[in-house]
Amino acid sequence: MTLGILGGGQLGRMSALAGIRMGIRVKLLTPKPTGPSAPFADTTVADWTDLGVLADWAADCDAVTVESEWAPLDRLAEVSDVPLRPRPVTLEVIRHKGRQNDALAEAGLPLPRFARCATLEDARQSAEAFGYPVLAKKYEGSYDGYGNATCRSPDDLAQAWDALAADDGMLVEAFVDFSGEVSALVARREGGETAVYPIVATEHREHQLYAAWMPAGLSDAIEAEARRVAGEAIAAVGGIGLLAVEMFVTRDGRVLVNEIAPRPHNTGHLTIEACHTSQFENHVRAALDLPLGDPSLRVPAACMVNVVGSRDGPASPRLGDALEVPDLAVHLYGKEDSRPRRKLGHVTATADDPDSARQRAEAGVVGLGL
Ligand code: AMP
Repeated sequence: MTLGILGGGQLGRMSALAGIRMGIRVKLLTPKPTGPSAPFADTTVADWTDLGVLADWAADCDAVTVESEWAPLDRLAEVSDVPLRPRPVTLEVIRHKGRQNDALAEAGLPLPRFARCATLEDARQSAEAFGYPVLAKKYEGSYDGYGNATCRSPDDLAQAWDALAADDGMLVEAFVDFSGEVSALVARREGGETAVYPIVATEHREHQLYAAWMPAGLSDAIEAEARRVAGEAIAAVGGIGLLAVEMFVTRDGRVLVNEIAPRPHNTGHLTIEACHTSQFENHVRAALDLPLGDPSLRVPAACMVNVVGSRDGPASPRLGDALEVPDLAVHLYGKEDSRPRRKLGHVTATADDPDSARQRAEAGVVGLGL
């Protein structure tokens, strides 16, 4: 079997590794040369918006999937009959935070209060109705907190409007007083067979994921509610493949959807060591319409911490120091250059409880010295 992946970053790399282990041929198409997947998968570097390039590349694939919501699946659909998983329409909905929230709200899923605001005046009225502070969000293209602004006053809102509004305006959301942020990875096949992973607890620093751990330490009722919401959210957008649902748990015990990603997710990297079947393997399985694997935990606890660049220059990890830490798995993505905030890898530690796993993971990151 041959699986095509649009994208050549670390998510493509880890998906490719999962496929290669099962004897699947994996090809990648990426618009720029990339460290992460070049060494071992069949990687084509070319203009991936070019219809001829897409048609040639996909010709011998049994299915094509993506590692990014920005991959040109809609272009590929114009020139190829190969099964696309996720479907282009799912990407179309997820890419735009306004469309995404509308689709989820229509399906009856719990979300923060939100308004699609076409003008600054609309935004002011919505903020007034929700009460400050509010979150202003760019509809498309935001990541790691770029594209969001917390607004405490009409002046803040006007500034956010200038920075974030597109032709169709921007999203305004009520500020959620959450007790925690969590994520659920969900694998879903054509026909609807679904595997929902145990809930992952997450911690962000400066708007970037810092750590993720399982079990999340939720009550049984909230864990079950979060899994239910995640499964229904993915069904609501017709998701196929592996998708992630980021959610807030409020202080009064409700679960609200923040956003969906139509691909493996940084909050799911720990599933490689923590679960019977990793998010990457289930991504490959669902993309090729193969039976899904068991998402349940196979260790008592696991914690992942991202390895993020702290300076500009060549990335030279001290692998030996990190590998002194017991029960630690080191994942480095093959990126040659470091820069502040760039994700260079991650480490996952397993242990009897999440706190011990986190201590090991943090020791591993210190050991790497990046
Ligand atoms: P996003 O880019 O929408 O995932 O937002 C990035 C981060 O901003 C989230 O992980 C939260 O920590 C915070 N955030 C986003 N939306 C809200 C909200 N409505 N209320 C409070 N915090 C939020």
